[in-house]
Amino acid sequence: MVNDFVKIKCKDCGNEQIGFRRAATTVTCHVCGSTLITPRGGVGDIKGEVLEVVG
Ligand SMILES: [Zn+2]
Repeated sequence: MVNDFVKIKCKDCGNEQIGFRRAATTVTCHVCGSTLITPRGGVGDIKGEVLEVVG
């Protein structure tokens, strides 16, 4: 089983939030609006720092 939820740290403001890395749409930081995950038709391109995989 692949865990697709990851805790990401925004590289712009330091906010930490959970994101779905197979997201169909761009995932943005809740605090500053910076792009965290860009969809690529599979596992997304993660722009922030991945702290842990949370399942
Ligand atoms: Zn941010």
